[in-house]
Amino acid sequence: MEKLRSVFFLVAFVTACSPRAPELRVAAPDAPSVAVESAKLAKVTAPRLSPSLPEKPPAPEAPEPAQCKLEVKEKHPAGFYPSDAWPKGEVVLTFDDGPHPGKTPKVLELLKKHQMPATFFLVGRNIDKRTYALVQRMVAEGHTLGTHSYNHDVGMAVRNLGERSVEYIRGQHETTRVLIELALVAKSPEDFDALFVRVFEEKAGTYLPAGSLRTKWRAFAERHAEVLAERGGRPYPMIFSRPPAGTPYVGLSTPDQKKLYDAALGRLGFLNVMWHGESGDTNPTRKHELGFLTDNLARFSRKGGVLLIHDYIRTDALSSALAGMAKNPEIRVVPIEAAVKCKYGCSSAVLGQSLAGSGSALVAAKD
Ligand SMILES: [Zn+2]
Repeated sequence: MEKLRSVFFLVAFVTACSPRAPELRVAAPDAPSVAVESAKLAKVTAPRLSPSLPEKPPAPEAPEPAQCKLEVKEKHPAGFYPSDAWPKGEVVLTFDDGPHPGKTPKVLELLKKHQMPATFFLVGRNIDKRTYALVQRMVAEGHTLGTHSYNHDVGMAVRNLGERSVEYIRGQHETTRVLIELALVAKSPEDFDALFVRVFEEKAGTYLPAGSLRTKWRAFAERHAEVLAERGGRPYPMIFSRPPAGTPYVGLSTPDQKKLYDAALGRLGFLNVMWHGESGDTNPTRKHELGFLTDNLARFSRKGGVLLIHDYIRTDALSSALAGMAKNPEIRVVPIEAAVKCKYGCSSAVLGQSLAGSGSALVAAKD
């Protein structure tokens, strides 16, 4: 389908914070060549795009504000949290724990069918020669990528080892960033393996032990930079991340543990993406119940916010939930970029520049 190769997600974006929402790009200006040009947000009154609608030429871009609005009161590092005000019925879909060779293609097919954008929070160890092309496909089909750690260690900050913990958390996300970017520049499964060997100096497909994430991530990043220099530079403007299980921002974490994660995020320059509602696909006793999953997704999508789903959710539940969202005029699925614009008043590319190298968690200034 030629049209879908350059899919434009036209979605109605009712913003509570910007009554004259300009058109927004999902991809930053230095987005990879594999990326679709951009996803556009239509005016509030625009109907949901159907494949039969003609594509309109893009409108002139609004000038980029020089500074992002970081003066809002918040107690967490920059990002999205359940306490954020959110327009009713406006949904950001997020899928965690992929890429998975069997499950992720089904998610991508359903998103394509409904022309809905999503953000995938990827686990570094899952990116290999079997799955690297799925990462390319996510970007090519207009989705957003984020890091979700290398090995899904939910206790990264819990061990509370001070600077060692900060370096470990940083190593988890930096190593995942490296793997995502290698996936985006790889030309074949064999090429991905060759790049893996070169960057990590391990046999292709080797599981990288936790200790090496903390002590070797800078060496990984240096060798990775050499690869990127040969292949046209950084292929993706990474800015979004999500901690495994939301720890230490949910549950019984201590302020000290949170401080360690805050510090790591500040050095990474990443936004921390939590969620407002979840599908329930991790619920140990009910994750296989179709009705439980579809009810959760329907309820939270009507409320609006960031929805937490996993690539491994029952396909029939996801299919039914997305179809329900697609036919409900009160629900609008928007790219996470729209949420950045709404909360921070700038693009993620500009926000990323503000966050990069901030040295400590960038907590919005108090009034
Ligand atoms: Zn996860």
